[in-house]
Amino acid sequence: MSSRKPKPVIDLVIPVFNEAGVVEQTYEKVREVIDSLPYQFSVYYVDDGSTDGTSESLAALARKDKRITVLQLARNFGHQAALTAGLDASHGDFVISMDADGQHPPTMIPEMIRLFEQGYDIVQAQRIEDGQGVSFKRITSSAFYSLINRISGTRIAPGAADFRGMSRQAVDALKSMPEFHRFLRGMISWIGYKTVILPYHETTRVAGRSKYSLGKMFRLAMDAIFSFSLMPLYIGLSAGGVFFCLAALEMIYVLSFWIEGDTSTLAPGWSSLMFVILIASGMLMILLGFIGVYVGYIFQEVKRRPIYLLKKGNT
Ligand code: UDP
Ligand code: MG
Repeated sequence: MSSRKPKPVIDLVIPVFNEAGVVEQTYEKVREVIDSLPYQFSVYYVDDGSTDGTSESLAALARKDKRITVLQLARNFGHQAALTAGLDASHGDFVISMDADGQHPPTMIPEMIRLFEQGYDIVQAQRIEDGQGVSFKRITSSAFYSLINRISGTRIAPGAADFRGMSRQAVDALKSMPEFHRFLRGMISWIGYKTVILPYHETTRVAGRSKYSLGKMFRLAMDAIFSFSLMPLYIGLSAGGVFFCLAALEMIYVLSFWIEGDTSTLAPGWSSLMFVILIASGMLMILLGFIGVYVGYIFQEVKRRPIYLLKKGNT
């Protein structure tokens, strides 16, 4: 008796911002791969407010290939928002997100699907550094990952790109996290479903320049730090503690003069003034820290993340 499972439906989600002349080339590579595979594919291009003719290029692609759907965002909302729009629109059993610039090799798609069919919910591609050359992006990226992994409870693999496949259940879990400041790499790691890391070598862009300006990179790093860690709030508390310790040291220092019985070298009024300053600023910082922690808890509440997610197989 053969109880063959139906072939899963595969979706591709590709956010695009000002990639005219690039999308045509990269889609050609994607098309070669998906044409060779025995699955039903849907491709969702999310046009993130492009202003350079990308919309026309995408419309032309969609006319030629019925598997393509183009979603137009009203303006440039940013990569993470565009990815979210694509994931929300997808219906497939396995949804692969990738960049439009050719840096995420479509030749990995068959391997991603194979791992999904083996039971993995999240197939996360991880960029491996070949150790050749140092670039600003590389240095800031590795500094960022070591910081975020130190201060956050959610482990995020260094070099994890927004190149990954997700089962329908993982996509639905992500959809249940409606927070505004989105750092998808962290959110997906937070979900905690069965994950496998798939290393890949990143190639250079097919054409054009990176659409991640310094400002966009900085905002992404801020979203990651502030939505995955309350550590910055504890700075006030720790600083307050330091000031209290300084007040105690000062007291010991002043007392040592009294014990020795010679206070003549102590400037009059210095001890009391110093003590009050240290205690008062310590107190202020600690109170500010407490307020910060309350703000942090409120922040976690308003994010409306689910309290838990069930494992696969629960009904
Ligand atoms: N992108 C986007 N919105 C933006 C910036 C980038 O949709 O505001 C897209 C871009 O077209 C590409 C992907 O996100 O498909 C990754 O961007 P990019 O290649 O510029 O980033 P990098 O690889 O330099 O980090
Ligand atoms: Mg790129």
